[in-house]
Amino acid sequence: MKAAELPVRTQVAIVGAGPTGLALAVTLASAGVDFVVVDRLAAGANTSRAAVVHARTLEVLADLGAAEELIARGVPITRFAVRDGSRRLLTVPFDGLPTPYPFTLMVPQCDTEAVLLARLRALGADVHRPYEVDSVVQDTDGVTLTMTTGHTLRAEYAVGADGMHSAVRAASGIGFTGSAYAESFVLADVEMDWVPGPEEVSLTFGSAGLTVVAPLPGGRYRVVASVDEAPPTPDLKFVQRLLDERAPGRGTVIALAWSSRFRVHHRVADHYRAGRLLLAGDAAHVHSPAGGQGMNTGIQDGFALGKALASGDLDGYEAQRRPVAERVVELTHRMTRIATARSRPARLARNIALPLLGRSPRFRTKLATELAELNYR
Ligand SMILES: Cc1cc2nc3c(=O)[nH]c(=O)nc-3n(C[C@H](O)[C@H](O)[C@H](O)COP(=O)(O)OP(=O)(O)OC[C@H]3O[C@@H](n4cnc5c(N)ncnc54)[C@H](O)[C@@H]3O)c2cc1C
Repeated sequence: MKAAELPVRTQVAIVGAGPTGLALAVTLASAGVDFVVVDRLAAGANTSRAAVVHARTLEVLADLGAAEELIARGVPITRFAVRDGSRRLLTVPFDGLPTPYPFTLMVPQCDTEAVLLARLRALGADVHRPYEVDSVVQDTDGVTLTMTTGHTLRAEYAVGADGMHSAVRAASGIGFTGSAYAESFVLADVEMDWVPGPEEVSLTFGSAGLTVVAPLPGGRYRVVASVDEAPPTPDLKFVQRLLDERAPGRGTVIALAWSSRFRVHHRVADHYRAGRLLLAGDAAHVHSPAGGQGMNTGIQDGFALGKALASGDLDGYEAQRRPVAERVVELTHRMTRIATARSRPARLARNIALPLLGRSPRFRTKLATELAELNYR
């Protein structure tokens, strides 16, 4: 359903109304900057996908007037446990972090998008859909976006918040340097009896792949696991077998609510700006879901870009946010490699080093701060 007729002219055209585009739109609406946001989908996706919202993102959402409603929908978790099989190697606490939100919030991505959209509407704006951007052409005075419907939109700037296969990035000629992981990732939201219980996010190492189990609202759990080859829609039996192999005796799946698989790349756009075209979110960076950083980094990009567009400091945006993406890609890549180490000596060294490091409060706080993205204020 169309929210309204598509305007022909605006200051900022935002392509994509995922979490990044919505965060940008709310930031611009709050700053009184004229914008139009389009999305090719007739309605926002209603699936779970990224389910972790970190402290820094909650701080940003608070600035946008959206944190309270989101927190009401989610489950706050104060610790992150790392295990090898049933042996606990490390516990990372979030509850001592210097933030008004000393926890990580577990909440499905569709809720995060719904809360941002409600905030956008409260500010008097909306998403124009379904409009798929077919071509993006910039000249010295502006950018012309042509939709597959034939409609055109002229803007001073266009932002690609249009995900990993960004049309805006393709039009800009900006490279997307990196590569793909060989493994694929299984995601499943399940009801289950889980021995560690709903108080922690748990990452279990294993040579067959990493396995994350995290509580979700409504008594469910999110299972994320890297596997050599995942079926398109993993079923209950598949998830149970994974848990039996990787966390024996700790999880009994009762029902499967949603599942998916996805392949992961680790890539960062060579630039975040080419003239009047700008990139944010998955259009600018993609990486392993270890640590749940993807959507968080995108929301923070949207917020930072909104501030930059409002203040006119557009070059400052790339200088501020691209190093963050590089650091997130590096951190999640390292976590994935450590978690899935196959050689015996590497696993042994890891399993000796982590408990030793974990005795240091400084190390635990450093890791919690990094995961919560509080270094990026
Ligand atoms: C199945 C699945 C599971 C995931 N699980 C996790 C997870 O557990 N943890 C994690 O951190 N991340 C996860 N992710 C990644 C996470 O969802 C993304 O990092 C996040 O959605 C990025 O937000 P975004 O707004 O930048 O891009 P997107 O959410 O991809 O939004 C892009 C939007 O642009 C629109 N669009 C695209 N092209 C056009 C066009 N030409 N014209 C108009 N509109 C267009 C799309 O319809 C879409 O709404 C998962 C992704 C998937 C698909």
